[in-house]
Amino acid sequence: MDVTKNALMNTYARYPLTLVHGVGSRVWDDAGKDYLDFISGIAVNTLGHAHPKLAAAIAGQAGTMLHCSNLFHIPKQQQLAAKLAGLSGLERVFFSNSGAEANEGAIKLARKFFFDQGSARRGIISATQSFHGRLLSTLTATGQEKVKQGFDPLPPGFRHVPLNDIAALEAAMGDDTAAVLLEPLQGEGGVNPATTEYLKAVRKLCDDKGALLILDEIQTGMGRTGTMFAFEHAGIQPDILTLAKGLGGGVPIGALLATEKVAESFGPGTHGSTFGGNPLSCTAALTVIAVMEEDGLLLNVAERGAQLHAGLEVLCAKCSWIHDVRGQGLLLGLGCAIEVAPVIAGCRDAGMLVLPAGPRVLRMLPPLNVSATEISEALGILETVFTGVES
Ligand SMILES: *Cc1c(COP(=O)(O)O)cnc(C)c1O
Repeated sequence: MDVTKNALMNTYARYPLTLVHGVGSRVWDDAGKDYLDFISGIAVNTLGHAHPKLAAAIAGQAGTMLHCSNLFHIPKQQQLAAKLAGLSGLERVFFSNSGAEANEGAIKLARKFFFDQGSARRGIISATQSFHGRLLSTLTATGQEKVKQGFDPLPPGFRHVPLNDIAALEAAMGDDTAAVLLEPLQGEGGVNPATTEYLKAVRKLCDDKGALLILDEIQTGMGRTGTMFAFEHAGIQPDILTLAKGLGGGVPIGALLATEKVAESFGPGTHGSTFGGNPLSCTAALTVIAVMEEDGLLLNVAERGAQLHAGLEVLCAKCSWIHDVRGQGLLLGLGCAIEVAPVIAGCRDAGMLVLPAGPRVLRMLPPLNVSATEISEALGILETVFTGVES
């Protein structure tokens, strides 16, 4: 297949690879070669590929009812909302189809919350290097110039501050600030963790100044870091939480969660979605969560994450071009002194798929049910590839 000249818009610099099927943490290309998948569709394939319970649940729902308008009650949607509310400690849920849409909803909800109080607060403060999506609102919140170029005029009311600098945040917050929007661990921006002290201080600052805290856990949520949500590591709670990527295990679904008090501002007619939370995507998400619980996947993430982290530390010590290992659970990154694109190509040739997070960070996101044997195999491949890298 000529993959450079086709009818698609050329928005992706695609790898020279066509993946056609997968099982668990392994995928096959159209030439029959197999790869360990440490990308998982960018943190989407929570249960790996072709999980029998997920496949059966989706097929079963497709044979019952694929879609039903939100003009009607949807029991699967209510069941999923109750489950997510119980897991997160937030009371109300709105379903979207993607991460960016969930963040757009979060921004709208924060502004509407203050509008309803007669307050003029509308401002959103997010972090430099952050990534919040490709909609006009969310690319404006994103702290990376490259995603904004050419798309002006951008919506007003957005500011950016460096991550982990509480003084900078305090200085940026004013009477006009509606919300602080943060990823607890930046994914796309380079696997940059917000420290526990910072997150606790941000929570306190928001409370003191009367602003809302929105956490974007689109990449870190649904067990990726070893707890269901990354905010649990810091012992804080957001007012608004966004989820997507891993939630449906590969079926598109996003979610916006909020406290009862904040969620009251989304009354009938204020927000909506044709597809959001339809029976198919909610069945997928309910099944993902059920399998995570039945199979003890949070423990697996902690254990396999520790195994991968320890193995990467050993490689880091051996390779002068690797600065550090960072991240949490099964969202890990290697900070490098060199551009990682050739290393990623080398891994692909050697039978392993890994991602960049910016030009000099190599990112790994295996499925949450990856085995100890597969982590060992991956570390073996990485050692071989890294040993051949000229620094
Ligand atoms: C991927 C991602 C998004 C955007 O999600 P889409 O489903 O691509 O719209 C937003 N925030 C974070 C933290 C992400 O990782």
